[in-house]
Amino acid sequence: MNNIRVRIAPSPTGEDLHIGNVYTALLNFIFACKYHGKFIVRIEDTDRTRLVQGSMARILKTLHWFGLNYDEGPDIGGPYGPYIQSERLDLYKHHAEELVRKGFAYYCYCTPGDLEQMRQEQIAAGKPTLYDGRCKQDKEQRTENPPSLKLRRASREQKYVIRLNVPDDGTTEFNDLIRGKVSFQNRLIDDQVLLKSDGFPTYHLAVVVDDCAMKITHVIRAEDWLSSTPKHILIYKYLGFELPVFAHTPILRNPDRSKLSKRKNPVWISWYKSQGYLPEAILNHLALMGWSMPENWSGKTNGVEIFTIDEMIKYFELKDVKTVGPAFDLKKLDWINGEYIRMTNNSKLTTQIYEFYDKKYPLELITRTTPLIKERIKKLSDYFILCQFFFEAPKEYEIPLSDKLSLVKDIVNSLKMLNTWKADKIGENMLNLATSLNIKNSEFFMILRVAITGKKISPPLNESMEILGKKEVIDRLNNLTLSK
Ligand code: GLU
Repeated sequence: MNNIRVRIAPSPTGEDLHIGNVYTALLNFIFACKYHGKFIVRIEDTDRTRLVQGSMARILKTLHWFGLNYDEGPDIGGPYGPYIQSERLDLYKHHAEELVRKGFAYYCYCTPGDLEQMRQEQIAAGKPTLYDGRCKQDKEQRTENPPSLKLRRASREQKYVIRLNVPDDGTTEFNDLIRGKVSFQNRLIDDQVLLKSDGFPTYHLAVVVDDCAMKITHVIRAEDWLSSTPKHILIYKYLGFELPVFAHTPILRNPDRSKLSKRKNPVWISWYKSQGYLPEAILNHLALMGWSMPENWSGKTNGVEIFTIDEMIKYFELKDVKTVGPAFDLKKLDWINGEYIRMTNNSKLTTQIYEFYDKKYPLELITRTTPLIKERIKKLSDYFILCQFFFEAPKEYEIPLSDKLSLVKDIVNSLKMLNTWKADKIGENMLNLATSLNIKNSEFFMILRVAITGKKISPPLNESMEILGKKEVIDRLNNLTLSK
């Protein structure tokens, strides 16, 4: 395949990139890489009522965070810019008027009140709620124009939109790369508004004009847009544009199979970042939504496919994407993320943890403690839960120690005798003490662990004590006996 050009077209209407958009971005990116094509980002900001300040910048930053780097986009430009739709308004108006001239679209002067009344009447009559074409009829010189319409037209302030003139009969069909042949009856396709009264295009007009102007060869997007595609195909046809190939990917679902929603699953990438998920792990998890490595691929880790972007590029085929994907399961993502953490080398992981906590905690201490917890954490945010005691003495203890203070004193005395403050020596010393006091090891070490870390579960204790240092350990134990 030659000169492949694909795009994502996020709308800057949320706090960050939506996880569903990341999925679409991933598939487009992989497809572009595989066929040495171009991956383009276009910002669709024509719905002015839903714009969120700063959203575009966050979306672009997040794409880079994932390594889904694009070849053309709003911040880097490219040969077919601008890549922000609000900067291309003249183009849409030009094409909307061209459609009217050719008879493929018409001016509509209906007010929101008219449309609401029409809708209510259709609902009452049990009919589909589609625009009934009354302004089209007016254009065709029908005699039965409602007088109110004539009056409004005479007024200079009348507002109008431009609507697509969808034929009443026939079907609109296309071949979807993932779904095969898809067919829609024209009579059920609405006379879609193309240009709004504020002069902005709707998504439907803008997406077609831009995909054509930007020479997009493959439109790979979520299933949500499948029912819009026949409208787009009519616009392509009416404007004399060459059709791209369409591929509608499965939408992400909650475990109860409903469409992924804020109420049941976090959807903004800002949340995933705040929890310390690694971008590669999220991409790996997303890749498996409706696609999997070929049968003969042998890289499974405990039955789950863990792979790099390069491996995915090698094996990925759009036609292999299933129409329905598995549920987006956070527990599985946790597991995959843990695997990625373990695959990360210590020095990189240390930097990731350091940066995750905004460089608030000393790098040296993170460097020493990271190897202790690497096997145990699933997300970067688990680090502090396990390691907080390295940075501050515990304020609470998960087991009451008030009846253990004489043991704590014995421990202090024994540790004081230690000349070499190394994990193995500390362990040996403590074991000897437990034996000489005739206390079961498990019980002894549980008390010691809680006394030092506050918790019943902690990173390996001897190593932790070595890192804390002799003075700190003895101070913590002494403070316990003093404060009681
Ligand atoms: N602006 C649409 C979105 O927010 C783009 C849909 C498409 O890819 O055509 O997802």
